[in-house]
Amino acid sequence: MESTRIDLKTVVSHAKEYGFVFPATEIYDGLSAVYDYGQLGVLLKNKIKAYWWASMVQLHENVVGIDSAIFMHPTTWKASGHVDAFSDPLIDNKDSKKRYRADVLVEDYVQKIEGKIQKEITKANKRFGEAFDEPQFRQTNPRVLANQSKIDSIQERLSQALNKEDYQALKQLIEELEISCPVSGSKNWTDVRQFNLMFDTEIGALADGSSKIYLRPETAQGIFVNFLNVQKTSRQKLPFGIAQIGKAFRNEIIARQFIFRMREFEQMEMQFFVKPGEEIGWYEYWKEQRFKWHLSLGFEASNYRFHDHIKLAHYANAACDIEFNFPFGFKELEGIHSRTDFDLTSHQTHSGKNLKAFDAESNESFVPYVVETSVGVDRLFLAVFSRALQQQKLPDGTQRVVLQLPEFLSPYQLAIFPLVKKDGLPELARTFFEELKYDFSCVFDAKDSIGKRYRRQDAIGTPFCITIDHDSLNDNKVTLRNRDTMQQERVSLDQLKQKLNSAVLIKEALKRL
Ligand code: ATP
Repeated sequence: MESTRIDLKTVVSHAKEYGFVFPATEIYDGLSAVYDYGQLGVLLKNKIKAYWWASMVQLHENVVGIDSAIFMHPTTWKASGHVDAFSDPLIDNKDSKKRYRADVLVEDYVQKIEGKIQKEITKANKRFGEAFDEPQFRQTNPRVLANQSKIDSIQERLSQALNKEDYQALKQLIEELEISCPVSGSKNWTDVRQFNLMFDTEIGALADGSSKIYLRPETAQGIFVNFLNVQKTSRQKLPFGIAQIGKAFRNEIIARQFIFRMREFEQMEMQFFVKPGEEIGWYEYWKEQRFKWHLSLGFEASNYRFHDHIKLAHYANAACDIEFNFPFGFKELEGIHSRTDFDLTSHQTHSGKNLKAFDAESNESFVPYVVETSVGVDRLFLAVFSRALQQQKLPDGTQRVVLQLPEFLSPYQLAIFPLVKKDGLPELARTFFEELKYDFSCVFDAKDSIGKRYRRQDAIGTPFCITIDHDSLNDNKVTLRNRDTMQQERVSLDQLKQKLNSAVLIKEALKRL
């Protein structure tokens, strides 16, 4: 079967049409960069979270989970550096009045040059066929070399400007590259300014002295401020981790690319506390673990790559992203950071509490170092959803749209169809539904032709469908149809359960990790 990947616009409309993701508050024309998950979206999202949670907390004896509050004492954000430094460089186009992240304008420009290189490679690959040696081509082709050196020089200047917070240099770079506003097409830019991304609000009734608090921009700080409580009550010894899934809020400057960049989103973060000096070893360990976890979703390895940070955040001594090939190119999916002892030391200073760990082996107390893994639930949802959605040309010349989700993440694991709405078939089909619904998420569908019902389930990613027909009345067997191969076989209830158990349960995916 010939499959083609689907563009972002179609991904967005498919997500809406089938009840995965809706624009938030749509009846009032929506709210930019905020989305609601529909009846199928919430099932997929919950399974993504369950898989992450189980692989982190259940499979690692030395990782425990918490669920901390979104509202935190305001000093938290002073200590973490967010009040002073959680900002993006912002630039406005004077003609369109549109606002952009200055660094993203430059990165998009770089991406276009990368696209040119990729085109050369695809062309050469076609021309040379099997004999094509990509690394050699990259090192020798003059056009690729020229473009690569252009990219290197732009990235060097960008990272210098960002590191030094030299916003004049950043603007100069945008002007020299003649980057224009995608909306107005003009190069009429304001100066670059800092813009803090935290939302604030007030806690308490105004009359009795309310104070400003922030909606958390990351879940990590909820882990740091609970380090002492968890260490004392969990009896964990270093190295150990604390995991959390929860909402985070950022007043992002640019709101585009669907659920890739939202103002309200969810993160799955894990902070791993280690002895000072051991952090780089653990950083490498978690890099590998997390990459393996992404590969376990079953998409081709070529969809993922590491990107080491050139500009390290103020708290990090090593950092990388796992990037994914989204419909708009490779972008950050997950961040892995070696955060040193920055956060705990700073909270120790601001709170006056002792946030040290005692190491019985060396008889020493110290502030642990931290390795963080941080992935956005919504970005992961987009990665999985957009990669799974395929337009397929079938051997008989017809086409179908199929959502080839990993079976253990599909909103419904099984669809149950009576062949016709008479002769006792719906009743028999119901008995299958009642028998199976405790172990598997099932959907019952008796409307339209079987062909149409298959297409409907293909479009929402249901890996298996069973049809109950007249023969079923005698032999109690059903026709099992596989979403990906479209093959059908006759199975008994026991055989069906066995097949489902090995294909759709998170447990089986966890064993493969
Ligand atoms: P970016 O550079 O894309 O803004 P970031 O480096 O600021 O991301 P982190 O602070 O490292 O992101 O956050 C960890 C993870 O949280 C990211 O890898 C991403 O998956 C997710 N994330 C961050 N910001 C958003 C957002 N606005 N919408 C959705 N997910 C987000």
